[in-house]
Amino acid sequence: ALAAAGLVVAGSLSACGKSDDSGSGSAKKGPYVGVILPDTKSSARWEADDRPLLKKAFDDAHVKSNIQNAQGDPNAFQTIADQMITSGVNVLVITDLDAGSGTAVIKKAQAAGIPVIDYDRLTIGGGAQYYVSFDNVQVGKLQGQGLQKCLADKQAPKGTIVAELNGSPDDNNATLFAQGYNSVLDPLYADGTYAKGPNTSVPAWDNTTAGTDFEQMLTSTPKMGGVLVANDGMANSVIAVLKKDHLQMPVTGQDATVQGLQHILDGDQCMTVYKAVQLEAKDASELAIALAKGEKPSVTQTVHDPKLNKDVPSKLETPVAIYKDNVKDVVADGFVTKDQLCTGDY
Ligand code: BGC
Repeated sequence: ALAAAGLVVAGSLSACGKSDDSGSGSAKKGPYVGVILPDTKSSARWEADDRPLLKKAFDDAHVKSNIQNAQGDPNAFQTIADQMITSGVNVLVITDLDAGSGTAVIKKAQAAGIPVIDYDRLTIGGGAQYYVSFDNVQVGKLQGQGLQKCLADKQAPKGTIVAELNGSPDDNNATLFAQGYNSVLDPLYADGTYAKGPNTSVPAWDNTTAGTDFEQMLTSTPKMGGVLVANDGMANSVIAVLKKDHLQMPVTGQDATVQGLQHILDGDQCMTVYKAVQLEAKDASELAIALAKGEKPSVTQTVHDPKLNKDVPSKLETPVAIYKDNVKDVVADGFVTKDQLCTGDY
């Protein structure tokens, strides 16, 4: 499959940065950044990409950092934040699990004079000072267009039933992704090109739940012909169900995970959305370092928080659609290595 895809490696950037010792010990005066990542069950990206990239950015800048993962638990999320505040971080970077616990953390930090950056997910109503992410409506659009293209390539007949597996209802991004793909799919449902099939949101993006949900969808709607899946982790569960039933149909994804890219090369997944986390981590770390040094960085973009009716200063990067023929671009960009795709080693 790799030879067929014509993979070429340019350079040998590794997504897995070297780790050293920072992250514990007593707080000194001086820049110290706390980062709270959400979980390990929704996507491989948080531990495989975000953590090493953020860690390396802070290390390279000789800025102390402490990166923790809340493991999907909103209480743990708040406890970690409390500990970080006590230990003297002077900026907090968070990826919320839900708006409630996210807002509580932001308020506590700000009460202690610590600015907060919403990383990847905007905490609606939270009031973080900055937001760093991708154009998430565009992510969804690429997914919708991707599914349309893959169905067309397969010459799916008129009225083909399309199912949708959305991300967590607690994640503002899931809403934005759905907004994007439904802007593509709704008109196609309306004109009869496809038929709208079962549609469900997966709490916490739990990959296992996605598999069970999809199995039920397939039982209720055996004639389904394509499925919009909001990320690679959930797509992997969907593909496992399809394989068990000896079925194949266009499946979308997101994150350009090693597993997702392998499924694309194998022809089991139609596309993924590559979000260059290198850029997202760079944007967030640069902002965090400036804030931690007491500077007031100025950014030109804003994103509207409808609950606060406030524009949040933001930095948004651009997502890219990946199909079999441009998997090599993700390798060339240094996001994954050719070896990772060959061995599945992660
Ligand atoms: C992120 C995705 C990720 C999902 C599950 C979203 O907020 O933008 O990249 O796949 O959460 O972790």
